[in-house]
Amino acid sequence: MIEFIKRESSTSGQERSSVTETVAEILSHVRDRGDEALRYYAKKFDGVEVSDLKVSIHEIERAVHQLPLTLWEDIQYSIGRIRSFAEAQMESLAEFEKEMIPGVHLGQRVIPVETVGAYVPGGRYPLLSAAQMSIIPAKVAGVKEVRVCTPPTKDGGIHPAVLCAAYLSGADEIFRVGGAQAIGALAYGTETIRPVCKISGPGNRYVTEAKRQVYGVVGIDLLAGPSEVLVLADETARPEYVATDLLAQAEHDMDARAILVTTSRRLASAVLQEIDRQLRTLGTAEIAGASWSRKGQVIVADTLDEAIQITNDLAPEHLHVQIENSRDYLDRFTNYGSLFLGEKSSVVFADKLSGTNHILPTLGAAKYTGGVWVGTFLKVVTYQWIEDEGVAALAPPCVRQSHREGLLAHMRSANIRLTGELDSYQPV
Ligand code: NAD
Repeated sequence: MIEFIKRESSTSGQERSSVTETVAEILSHVRDRGDEALRYYAKKFDGVEVSDLKVSIHEIERAVHQLPLTLWEDIQYSIGRIRSFAEAQMESLAEFEKEMIPGVHLGQRVIPVETVGAYVPGGRYPLLSAAQMSIIPAKVAGVKEVRVCTPPTKDGGIHPAVLCAAYLSGADEIFRVGGAQAIGALAYGTETIRPVCKISGPGNRYVTEAKRQVYGVVGIDLLAGPSEVLVLADETARPEYVATDLLAQAEHDMDARAILVTTSRRLASAVLQEIDRQLRTLGTAEIAGASWSRKGQVIVADTLDEAIQITNDLAPEHLHVQIENSRDYLDRFTNYGSLFLGEKSSVVFADKLSGTNHILPTLGAAKYTGGVWVGTFLKVVTYQWIEDEGVAALAPPCVRQSHREGLLAHMRSANIRLTGELDSYQPV
């Protein structure tokens, strides 16, 4: 049996449909009016007049030169970590060609997507790591051009750390455009922003809904909306660690979700108290506290098996396991964006720089996809070449199958290769 010590206050259907409508209107405006619409929404949502949508190389160079040395070194360090992991993933993707039966050669190739749009969130925090998480794996995959969109700051610029992180990660063009309008620009193109083949990157609910709506016009990585963490903890977990882990995701957004699933009622109470204590001294308590009181959940399960079942059903973006011998349970978890085993494996290490990607599925999308990886920017495609011996084996069953399906031109296409004539072989 499970018990909810704290429940999420659910998002109303009305709230959801208003986001859907707002985004549809923004996208249609961007499609019809291009740059003019981008400037209109910059004024409306970001409160700033933007004249040059594209960031100049001069502005980038200035930001790079003014960056404090330690920050420059930290950015380079995280770029190195993220690139190494993306390169290791790249090695796991094999091209091959094999003669499957005599005269039938089949192959698999791995081709990079040509152009990618990387969305870097910037509404609340300058998420410089989000720039690295799209751009680096895209560049490791071999994407020719990565166009970055990120919201303008109040003075009409872009946060220098985000600018440097994007530039040093390999961005080819950077635009000061945020929100659903940025997704529209990357999908449909405007006078200044050329459309891309695929859009990647996390964002708030407007950005995520926009990606959902443009899917089909362009590819998207996945729906990486407001952050989520589920901490699975037993009585051996430390309440102060668990509380920091829940608040670290809650501080992202009022819509972020932080969930504790535990087998220990004592731990649940201690974590609740600890959260209240930590919120009193947390600089971001306004957002973290609001998010925790709206979306936070504490669930107590009778057994560990039951608790694991709950985590698999919830399919959280980040799953942090803080139970005795956490590592032994790796195979028991089947639905999550990224998994963290043991109390030392803080989610924030991976959010910034351990090397795995932080653009991860939310709202249950982890039931059908993992997060962004180098493969997000690659197309795995097949090819074949067939010789006479292969035609002799494949054509007769192919003609018979096409005949049964009533696809007469198919029959001829196979027949002509077998005999040189259109209707030579007719199945009975
Ligand atoms: P953001 O860049 O995603 O959104 C800011 C933009 O939203 C603004 O520029 C504006 O254009 C638009 N906007 C704001 N209010 C609007 C309104 N009322 N109507 C229409 N558009 C509006 O930045 P953010 O808001 O700080 O959100 C970042 C999000 O990214 C957070 O939710 C965070 O949790 C999430 N995130 C998710 C992942 C993941 O992998 N799932 C990773 C990192 C961050």
